Amino acid sequence: MRAFNAAASYAAQVGFTAQVFSQAAIHVRCYRELRDRFGLSSQMAVRAMGKAVETFKRDKRVCPVFRADGAMTYDERLLGWKGPAHVSLLTLQGRQIVAMVYGEYQAGFLARLKGQVDLILRDGTFYLHATIDIPEDSPIHPIRFLGVDFGIVEIATDSDGHNSPGAAMEAVRQRTARARQTFQATGTTSAKRRLKKMAGTQARFQRWVNHGLAKRLVQYAKDTQAALVLEDLTHIRDRITVRKRQRAKHHHWSFRQLRDLLTYKAQRAGVPLLFVDPRNTSRTCAECAYVDQRNRRSQAVFSCLQCGHTAHADHNAARNLATRGAVSRPDLVAPLLGQLAQA
Ligand SMILES: [Zn+2]
Repeated sequence: MRAFNAAASYAAQVGFTAQVFSQAAIHVRCYRELRDRFGLSSQMAVRAMGKAVETFKRDKRVCPVFRADGAMTYDERLLGWKGPAHVSLLTLQGRQIVAMVYGEYQAGFLARLKGQVDLILRDGTFYLHATIDIPEDSPIHPIRFLGVDFGIVEIATDSDGHNSPGAAMEAVRQRTARARQTFQATGTTSAKRRLKKMAGTQARFQRWVNHGLAKRLVQYAKDTQAALVLEDLTHIRDRITVRKRQRAKHHHWSFRQLRDLLTYKAQRAGVPLLFVDPRNTSRTCAECAYVDQRNRRSQAVFSCLQCGHTAHADHNAARNLATRGAVSRPDLVAPLLGQLAQA
C-alpha cells in the first residue's frame, strides 16, 4: 500500500511537471521507473498511474500527494475471491491468501461482485470496498407525486405529512462538537486520536440515519405508486438561515448525502425521481397558492394570510414541491389518467 501510494504520487508529479494528464502520456514517462524504483508489478504500476489520472480528471491545477495509507486499487488481475472466506491479493512479495470477514448483509451480494475493489486502511484494520452490480426493478407507473422537503428540525417531511425528526441526530452532533472543542483545547496526542475517532463515529451515525430515512421514503413512494419530488439542492444554501457557518456547512453536506442515497435507492426500486426549483415553497400556500413571506409564521408554523390554511411549515412546503413536480412532468402520470378517462 505504501509503495503503491508513493508510486501514485510520483506518477502524478511526473505528469504534472510535464503538464500531461492522460494514462497513456504518463505511462510512457514513468512506467519503467514505477517497476524498478517502487517494485510494483506491471498491473500495480498501471493502477498507481490510474490513481493519479483519476485525480487529474477532477482537478488539473494542483499536483496531488497521496497519503501513504491511502486507498489502493485492486482489479481482477490483482485480486481473486477464494471461496467465501478468503481473498487472494497480489503484494510486493507475491500472492497472499488472506482471511476475510463480512456481515450477513454483504454475504447476500457475494455473487454480484464486480471488477474494481479498493483496499482501505482504517484504524489499523484493512477493508475491501467492493463494487457490486444490482439489477434495477422495473419502473413503477406513478399515479401521483410525493414531495419531500429537507429541513433542520425535521430532516425530511413528505407531502402526506410524515416526518423524520432530526432532533436526535442534531443532539449527537452538538455533543460531539462540544467534546471536540474540549479535546482541541487540550491538544495532546491522545486528544488528537480521540478527535479523529469521534469524527468517524459522527459521520457513520449520520450515514446510518440517512440510509434508513431514504429506504423508508423510497419504499413508501413505491407502495403508494408515487413519483418522488425533491428540491434542487443548488438553492439550499440560500434557504438556510443559520448564524454559524459551520452548522450550515454541516447541513449542506448532510442533505447532499440524503439526496444521493435517495437517488440510487429510487433508481434501484424503479421509482421516478425529479428535482424542482424550491424557491418560495416555504412562503406559498399549498391550498390557494397565495405567496407571502408572512405566511410563514415561524420555523414550524405556516398560516395563509389569504385563505387561513394552517399547517406544519415543512408539510406545506412538501406539498408545494409535489405540485411543482406535477406541473413540470405531467407526462409521468398522464398516460394512466388517459386510460382512466377512456374506461
Ligand atoms: Zn391559502
